[in-house]
Amino acid sequence: MKRVLMAALVLSICSCNEVVKPEVANDNEVTESNIIVHEEYSGVEPSKPEETELYEPKVAVVTPGKNGSAPSDAIVLFEGTSLDAWIHVQDSTAANWNLNDDGSMMVKDKSGNIQTKQNFGDVQLHLEWSSPAEVQRDGQNRANSGVFLNGMYEVQILDNNDNPTYVNGQVGSIYKQHIPLAMASVAAGEWNTYDIIYRSPEFNEAGDKIKSGTMTVMHNGILVQDDVALKGTTPYIGWPKNPTHGKGPLMLQDHQDNSRVSYRNIWVREL
Ligand code: MG
Repeated sequence: MKRVLMAALVLSICSCNEVVKPEVANDNEVTESNIIVHEEYSGVEPSKPEETELYEPKVAVVTPGKNGSAPSDAIVLFEGTSLDAWIHVQDSTAANWNLNDDGSMMVKDKSGNIQTKQNFGDVQLHLEWSSPAEVQRDGQNRANSGVFLNGMYEVQILDNNDNPTYVNGQVGSIYKQHIPLAMASVAAGEWNTYDIIYRSPEFNEAGDKIKSGTMTVMHNGILVQDDVALKGTTPYIGWPKNPTHGKGPLMLQDHQDNSRVSYRNIWVREL
């Protein structure tokens, strides 16, 4: 920062016709090589409003859902009455998590994780979840579940209300990779929303990752993950791994400790 201030001082004592570019101080500051120039806005600036108004391409019309229900172009994964879109990870049998009377489903303890039959790449995902009002246990064992994008990158679900745990594993974290920007949960027993934008990583022909996947997460409308780079899988023990993959299922976690986490209004838009 000192060097930038020095550059500004130098600029202030130069003649008006001279342009002094700031010196490079560190990666977060401006360098000549990363200055962005929008070439399309060079030349003579338009003087009439219509010269900067576009009518193509046409923009798709999407009818929004109401109260968390799916918009018109979404793939509905759970709307309250059927688990047909889901199978158990372990043996690919029909998902048998519990259907609740209120149009939600609940983790069936020790039945194992469930995943979508359909595979997805880049998506916008909406889901709603609720931890039970009747609190049991502490830390990572209080209403722990999670949604795994591409079947391997977990956004943590946990009842963190008056229940601290390691911050890179709390609700809204990318598990053991990215600490959430806020703890935005409603009270236990109430419904939370997650809106997630996921972009897949890219791999070269040798199977090496050449571009990291990214995730943006809104928790109850509050930004908790801001376009973070995925460093790999999200294991409980060990480093993130980067297996080559294409599209994959969305997976919901059975933490196998009577989490009693419920889900509703799960839909996805492919991007
Ligand atoms: Mg979890």
